Amino acid sequence: MLTMGVDIGSTASKAVIMEDGKRIIARQLVAVGTGTRGPSEVYKKILEEAGVNRSGIARIVATGYGRLTFAQADRELSEVSCHGKGMRFLCPRVCTVIDIGGQDAKALLLDDRGNLENFIMNDKCAAGTGRFLEAMSRVLDVQVEDMGRLSEKSQNPVSISSTCAVFAESEVISRLSSDEKVEDILAGIHASVAKKVSGLAARVGYRPQVAMSGGVAKNKGIVRAMEQELKCGILVPEDCQMAGAIGAALFAYQDMTRHESAADERAIYRKGEKDDE
Ligand code: ADP
Repeated sequence: MLTMGVDIGSTASKAVIMEDGKRIIARQLVAVGTGTRGPSEVYKKILEEAGVNRSGIARIVATGYGRLTFAQADRELSEVSCHGKGMRFLCPRVCTVIDIGGQDAKALLLDDRGNLENFIMNDKCAAGTGRFLEAMSRVLDVQVEDMGRLSEKSQNPVSISSTCAVFAESEVISRLSSDEKVEDILAGIHASVAKKVSGLAARVGYRPQVAMSGGVAKNKGIVRAMEQELKCGILVPEDCQMAGAIGAALFAYQDMTRHESAADERAIYRKGEKDDE
């Protein structure tokens, strides 16, 4: 049985097709998110890659910021549910998931069975999100994909003291004009994001194994800075940015074979907390 998970994010559209809830047979990412060509393009591409049409897919679950706008879905589920489920599939012993996406960051705690025990999310402040890093990449004229590698050259990280994204941008401009090295500024930016996000992990009561999901986990500088803040190793699966879509495809399979996921979802929402800083 084939099921599809689609994650319509703020920044990127992701889709996977899984066979019998066990094996990923196709994965696609289009680097634009909700309200753009991203959702329809990723849907078209994933069906093409798998060589099937809609009737060949038993069920589609959509997740992510733009999930309610994805008309092809049979059901929508929250990102916290799907990221937790997807990461347990990718990292079977993970207990804490830290997800940094385009416009939010969250820390999820999973119990021994992989069910969501608690979560904390920051979607009110740009600092500590991919959008903040993208803004910094523009100021520094460095591609986001290169930020991690470049920051690893830093010998003298610059401290970025502003906790607000707007002020931090001005601070970075002022550091540039005082001839600080780009790699040292980048290391400072990564440390400031890690400080903000590790606060969420601390509040959720993180415990090993810790793993990161979301596109920002591809930035090795962020992962290293998070490891320093949390004082533990962090797993980053190859499919880190696909975790939400994988979780959605797994829930779609579960829907076809069991009837528990609706109740799970309601319980999760009673437990979770939003960080409104
Ligand atoms: P969303 O679901 O909100 O769209 P994603 O989890 O897809 O978010 O992550 C998108 C973010 O990941 C963007 O801010 C993007 O800049 C960042 N990103 C994507 N690929 C990379 C990479 N190779 N290196 C660093 N950052 C990346």
